[in-house]
Amino acid sequence: MKQAVLISKQKIIFREVPRPTCGQNQVLIKIKRVGICGSDIHAYYGQHPYISFPIVQGHEFSGEVVEVGKEVQNFKIGDRVTVRPQLTCGQCYPCRHGNYHICNNLKVIGCQADGAAQEYLAVDQELVVPLPDELSYDLGALLEPSAVGVHAARRLGEIKGKKILVLGSGPIGILTAQAVKALGADRVMITDISDYRLRVSQECGLDFTVNVKKTDLGQALQAYFGPDSADGIIECVGTEDTVEQAIEHARKGTDIVIVGVFGSNPRVNLGFVQDRELRLIGSLMYKEEDYEVAIEFIRSQKIKVKPLISAHFKFEDYPQAYKYIEQNKERTLKVLIDF
Ligand SMILES: [Zn+2]
Ligand SMILES: [Zn+2]
Repeated sequence: MKQAVLISKQKIIFREVPRPTCGQNQVLIKIKRVGICGSDIHAYYGQHPYISFPIVQGHEFSGEVVEVGKEVQNFKIGDRVTVRPQLTCGQCYPCRHGNYHICNNLKVIGCQADGAAQEYLAVDQELVVPLPDELSYDLGALLEPSAVGVHAARRLGEIKGKKILVLGSGPIGILTAQAVKALGADRVMITDISDYRLRVSQECGLDFTVNVKKTDLGQALQAYFGPDSADGIIECVGTEDTVEQAIEHARKGTDIVIVGVFGSNPRVNLGFVQDRELRLIGSLMYKEEDYEVAIEFIRSQKIKVKPLISAHFKFEDYPQAYKYIEQNKERTLKVLIDF
C-alpha cells in the first residue's frame, strides 16, 4: 500500500509498504478521509513540541472496516468508522484514575505513532467509533476536533446559562464555541483577527463575533455581556497575545481554559493570575464520553462542521495540500484528504 511520510521539515515522501496485518483485537480500516489539523501544520514546519520526524501523520480520519480480528464482535466488514486516536499505557497514575487522555506514556496515532496518511490502518477495537448514517466520511473526519471542543467546554464545569468568551476562530475555536452553545451557555462571543474566519463562525451560527484588530476587546465584552463581563474564557490559539488577552480580560475569580498548542513559550502577566484569583486550566484532547457528545451534537446539527471545510485534495496530492494551506493561510480552515 501507499504511505505518506513526513521525513523532515516541509518534506513529505510516498513509499510503498506492506499492508498492516490485523491483530486479533483489531480492525483494519481502509482510510477514506484525513483532516489536516493545526498540530499537523506545526509538525510540518518542525515546530510541534511533541512530534518529531519521521512521522506518518493523520489523527483526524474516517474509513471503512475491511477486516476484523478474531476477538472483534462489535464491528463487521463494511462498517463506516472513525477512531479515537489515543494509545495509552493503562498503568500510570492518570490511566489508573480514569484520565487516560493525559496518560504519562500517551502516544497519539498520527503524532507519535503511524497515522492515517496511508491506505490502510489497523486499530484496536476499543478505539474504533462507529459513524451513524447521518455522518458522511467528511463529517466523520471532523469528529475528532469536535470532541476536542466538547472536552474544552466541559473543562469549565457547568456552563448552562453562562456567558463565555472563546478566543480564536480556527477550527478548534469554532468547534469549541459551538460546543459551549450546545451545552447550554447563555451567550458565546468568539474573536479573531481575520474577518474571513469570523464569517465562517457566523455560518456556524455563532452570531457574536469580534475582530480584535478593529474592536477593543474590553469594550466588546461590556457591550455583549454587560458590566459583569464573561463568566469563563477558552483560549484556542496558543499565542502570547491571546493568553495575555485572556488573563487581562478575565473577571476576578474566573476560569481560563487553555486549548491552544504553543509553538513557543509565551511571556504573560502571572501577577494578574495571583491578584485576581484566576484559574488557568489546561485541556488536552478528550475522553470517550466527549466523542459520544460530539457525535450527538453533529448529528443534531448543534455543531455544524461543513462550513469549516475549505478544500479537498487527493491522497496523491497530499504534499500540495500543505502548499495550499501555506499559500491560503487566511482563507483556510480545514483541508481534507480524499482516498
Ligand atoms: Zn487535531
Ligand atoms: Zn498511562
